[in-house]
Order: sequence, then structure tokens, then C-alpha cells
Amino acid sequence: LPRLPIFEAITKHDARRTAVVHSPSGRSFTYGQLANDVAAAKDRLQRNTGGRSAEGERISFLVENGYDYVVTLLSILAAHAVAVPLSPSFPAHELRYIIDQSESLMLLSSAKFQHQAEQVLQEGIETKPMHYKQDKIMLGSPDGHVTLEEATSHQGGMMLYTSGTTSRPKGVLLPQDVLTAQTRSLLEAWQYSSEDVLLHVLPLHHIHGTLNALLTPLFAGSTVEFQFPFNAAAVWERLAAPFLPNPDAAKQPITFLTVVPTIYTRLLSSHSSLSPQLQKATKTALHPSNMRVNISGSAALPTPVKSAWTELSGGNVLLERYGMTEVGMALSCGLDFADRVDGSVGWPLPSVQARLVDIETGEVIEEGQEIDPASNSERQGEIQLRGPTIFRQYWKNAEATSREFTEDADGQGSWFKTGDVAVRRNVDGAGKSDQAWAKGPLYFIHGRRSADIIKTGGEKVSALEIEREMLSLPQVDEVAVVGLPSEAWGQKVAAVVVLSDHGKTAGKGGRAWSALDMRRALKEILANYKIPQEMKVVDTIPRNAMGKINKKQLVIQIWGEPL
Ligand code: ATP
Ligand code: MG
Repeated sequence: LPRLPIFEAITKHDARRTAVVHSPSGRSFTYGQLANDVAAAKDRLQRNTGGRSAEGERISFLVENGYDYVVTLLSILAAHAVAVPLSPSFPAHELRYIIDQSESLMLLSSAKFQHQAEQVLQEGIETKPMHYKQDKIMLGSPDGHVTLEEATSHQGGMMLYTSGTTSRPKGVLLPQDVLTAQTRSLLEAWQYSSEDVLLHVLPLHHIHGTLNALLTPLFAGSTVEFQFPFNAAAVWERLAAPFLPNPDAAKQPITFLTVVPTIYTRLLSSHSSLSPQLQKATKTALHPSNMRVNISGSAALPTPVKSAWTELSGGNVLLERYGMTEVGMALSCGLDFADRVDGSVGWPLPSVQARLVDIETGEVIEEGQEIDPASNSERQGEIQLRGPTIFRQYWKNAEATSREFTEDADGQGSWFKTGDVAVRRNVDGAGKSDQAWAKGPLYFIHGRRSADIIKTGGEKVSALEIEREMLSLPQVDEVAVVGLPSEAWGQKVAAVVVLSDHGKTAGKGGRAWSALDMRRALKEILANYKIPQEMKVVDTIPRNAMGKINKKQLVIQIWGEPL
């Protein structure tokens, strides 16, 4: 595999092949055009930096998903600057926070967001607009040239902000060498090819939408077709198009889909309302013989969603993986269907080193030591990672950087503490493919140490594990398990539940299921101390664009007390 930066890799592909299909026009752009446009945009950028070198400088940009976005991003990388993607969905004060915090030299915006960009700059921003022309606003930093903290970062790269699920978004600096290592790792694991056509329906300011769904397919020479914002009916129509009785010759079959669990849920629930003709064509589109791979991540995949997708698609088992802004993708199930074990996120990806550190004792859990002999229970460990795919610093946050990395105990680099907890387990029949990295015990995520590991009566229980069990009940559509403060137990397990249509009439006399009904059913599948002591039924559980639940906010919203 070439060790090329991504902007260079695109010049090596067959220039006539389609790189990007724009949205909403549906216009196709070849790799040849893309390479030319990136080179031209890079020159423009370098001419417009007010005489400074763009190298290592942060450049924020506000551009809608589509071809212009790709050109903007790659031209910033090609200029060895640091691309800071902004989302138009952010309120002005969030945008301003990122522009200020990243000390951006420049804000680029497309015509569509020019007004929004100007507004953001109008109030409160410390840097002053210096120069303004068409689609570009220069920001003069008060202290002149701002240099990066690490020499390696002069190669430029990206700066993504974490989703802000647990605290204020942190700027994660991903230098080009890290981005290249991340794309190479995914390319090897999921085998993107120039034959793949990927439908892109995710926001682009998070790692999932950027790395998995854009940079890696471009690195591989695949086609990325944009359709944004996500709309279930539009996705079904697009998937069906090549398989209708009168197929649309301009539309290639989609072979690759990587999205978040909530999107699979919404696709599944809207499928039955499609016309019979569309239902038939979409089933053909999803069949493994047409759709090469369907991936889920960013939040835990409920097993019923996975099973329903397998059934609808005639055998396309969802491949779950685990990643985060700081590390790209870290763990993944394998391409073999037998390697997509329910509830598991698989193995460390190529070039990723992973270990589990016991959350009780702080000891590294070696392979074969996954069970605590004293209690005969699985040892929960924090996932720690190192290798060329791991970021090296939070931007301008040395405190967080030093807190989240261990000391370099063996001289082979320090480990990044993900804050996520998992167990490892051997599973019969899995790990037998010829993918060399997909071997050994599999990882099962127990959730965030800060919000999902509930300490109740001396036990440490996983909110995610309880959620997984509760979701297996047909009466339950959605659930968030949290720990509430309790004098007797330290914390007590509580659940916020959305009932399914069935659950709304499954109680006595056709009434909705009650907390009592639920507890009775859970007795069959969960140990007593894991059964939620308190339950609240709600209509919806709020999630962000990546399908994640902010549990701190949820607890305050429902119980009015902090977690
Ligand atoms: P912040 O760090 O600002 O609180 P965040 O952690 O949600 O926000 P991201 O980097 O976008 O920001 O998300 C990474 C997190 O998403 C992981 O640490 C993990 O908790 C969760 N996650 C990702 N994939 C999975 C998965 N397959 N199953 C369960 N959780 C997952
Ligand atoms: Mg995080």
C-alpha cells in the first residue's frame, strides 16, 4: 500500500474514473478533475494568505457536503495547512469557539454559508477580518504568526473537535502522517477498492464521516456519492435505482455503506412504507452480492437492529467497529460474516496496538487473564491504544494531553487512555478468516468509564450491557441506562425507556407496559443487581447527529439532578 498523503494518492488513480458524485445535482467528477481542482485551489489558497506560508496554519471552513467540500479539504492538506471543518448546524457561538480556539488563520466559506460566516465573525471574535474577497475571510491573529507545538505538524493535517458528549469539544490534531496511517489501516481491513461506490449521508466534521466515509475511499480510488442531510426515503430510492424494472443507467449500484446505528434503525422502520416495487428493488440492492459491506459505529449497535438488517438484506450482517476522534478507528469486526459477533467490536485494526487495563487494580490484563479467578467474573479494563494511527496532542490543551496519555514505560511509546471500558472474550468460530489482524479474543465495549460504568453495591456494572439485554425485549424500542446517586448503594441503576408499538399495548388489559412488567421480564435475563431500580418511560431519547446520547444531560432533564 502506498505511504502517500491522501491529496497525492488521488493523483495516482485512473483519471477517468468517478471520484465524487455531487449533491443535490448528481453531477459526477472524475479523479482527473478532482486532482486539477485541488491543485488550483491550493495555489489560490497560498496566494491569499497575506504573504505568509500556509504551512501548519489552521484554516477553518464552512462548506456543504459535496464536491466543493472535498476540493477545499484536500487543497488545505495539499498546502500542508491544518483543515478545521466546521458544521453549519453549529450555533454561532460554537463556530466562534472553534475558530478562536484553533487560532485559525482564515475562514473559508461557500456562497451558501457566506452570510453565516460573516455573522460568526461579527461579534465577539478576537481576531479581526483583515481581508475579504468572495468566499474567503482572512483573520489576523493578534500576535502574528502562530506556530504549531510540534514540528511534525508542519506537514499539516486535520483538526477535528470531539463530539462533546462528555465535556466541551476538544480540538484533536491529526497530522498527515497519522491520517495516512489511519486510512491505510482501514483500507487493509475493509478492502475498499476502485470498484466500490459509497453512499455518504453523514456529517463531515466528525471522524466517521471524514475518515471512514470520505478519505479512505478516496485513498482507494472508490466513488463517493453524497446525499445530505440523511433522508431515509431518499436513501431507499437511491439504493433501488439500479434495480428497478426500468433502471436509471446513470446510477451505479451502491456497494458500501458506513453509518451510525440510528440511521440503520430509521432505514428499517421506513422500509415497510415503501411501494412493493421499491421494497423489492431495495432488497436486491442490499443483498451481499450487490452491497459489499455495511458498517455500523459511533455508538453501540443494538442486536435487534443487526438481526433485522440481516433479514431484510438476505444475509448482509452488519460489521461493527469502534473508534474515536483521537484515534480514528481502533477495533473492528472482520470481513468474514462469522467474524461479526453480536455485541462485539472485534479486534485491534492493522497497526493498532491495544491493551486492557483492569479498572479495579490498574494491571494490564494479559491474554488468558480475562477472568478473575476469585469471583469467576470477567475483568473490565480500560482500552488503551498506541501506534502510528493515534493522535499526539489535544490542540492547546497540554493538561488534557498529559492526563490522557500514560508514561512511556517500555520506551516504545506511551498509551492513550480512551476512557472506554471493555471486556475480552474468546468466541467459538470467530477469528478463522485469512485476515491476519482478526485473531484472538474479541473486544466487547462496556461503555464510558465516566458515564456507563455504574458502581452499585460494590459491583461495577456496564450500562451498555444492560441496554443490550433490555433492547432484546420486543416491548422496548430504545433505552438509556444510567447510574443515579443512592445512599444505600452508592449508585443505583436507572433506565429511560422508549416503548415499541407492541410495548404500548403489551400490559394488562391492552395498556402500556409498566415498570413492573419490565422488571418481571428482566428477571429472566439479568442478574438482580443489574435490573434498573428506577424506570422512566419517555417518547424519545435525545441524540446528537452521530446517534450518541449525552447521559449527563439526560439525567438532568429527567431527574433534575447531576450525574
Ligand atoms: P467527547 O470526547 O467530547 O465527550 P465523544 O467521545 O462522543 O465526545 P467522539 O470521538 O466522536 O466524541 O466519540 C468517540 C466515542 O464514541 C468513544 O469513546 C466511544 O465511547 C463511542 N463509540 C464509538 N464507537 C462505538 C461502538 N461501536 N460502540 C460503543 N461506543 C462507541
Ligand atoms: Mg471522547
